[in-house]
Amino acid sequence: MVPASLIEEAARAIAARLPLVALTGAGISVESGIPPFRSPGGLWEKFDPAVYASIEAFRRDPSKYWSIRGDFIRRLDDFIPNPGHIALAELERAGLLRHLITQNIDGLHQKAGSRSVTELHGSLREIFCLACNRRYHAPHIPPGTPPRCDDCGGVLKPNTVLFGEALPAEALERAIQEAATCGCLLVVGTSAVVQPAASLPRIARGNGALVVEVNLERSPAGAELFLEGAAGVILPRLTDALRGSIRLRQSKGTRHGEDPPRNL
Ligand SMILES: [Zn+2]
Repeated sequence: MVPASLIEEAARAIAARLPLVALTGAGISVESGIPPFRSPGGLWEKFDPAVYASIEAFRRDPSKYWSIRGDFIRRLDDFIPNPGHIALAELERAGLLRHLITQNIDGLHQKAGSRSVTELHGSLREIFCLACNRRYHAPHIPPGTPPRCDDCGGVLKPNTVLFGEALPAEALERAIQEAATCGCLLVVGTSAVVQPAASLPRIARGNGALVVEVNLERSPAGAELFLEGAAGVILPRLTDALRGSIRLRQSKGTRHGEDPPRNL
């Protein structure tokens, strides 16, 4: 159990270093019941990703990918955001979180109400036609394995990054720019070993930002402040403490003519 004093210290440090940007990984979704794909018991232990989810395999035979995706995507609607996702959405609404970068493809941040989100690995909720680029939104996908575009009969591809595929350039660029210009990077539930999640904390720190980590175990993110525990437990506490710290700074700061944050 992280002591209240450490949460308060983190909140004070973050309040002094806005704007805040968050980087989230599989850990936060595990708390909503989604097993990390790469972990023991995860999807890629049952199905070899080289066969089922690499871009080469998909180009050769998309039906392999679509044969395992159906079950997973049907369950996707059953998963709901946990208090960690909800706290991050609240921070955004309060004008305290400028942007959220996620490695997750499950859409739970948006379901919780987050709006300013970069999905580094794409989204399971979107599918597009490789021939005509028409977009489909899950779970409304044409039937069949592989499903074919209603308009042109082209092969449909998920808008997620498959193994061997490059990250979407626009998302990567936005993530780097957010990390380079934030005052504090809040790293949540990522092992920070897969690129670019591994380098974003370094970019933030290199530009003078504070790095705060919420995780079950300390990652190589090199955070100055580490809050050990589940995101669903720590983030609501941190959000409350942060609101308190901001109000305190606001009552002192207004005297010095600072702009108070919105919607506290
Ligand atoms: Zn099409």
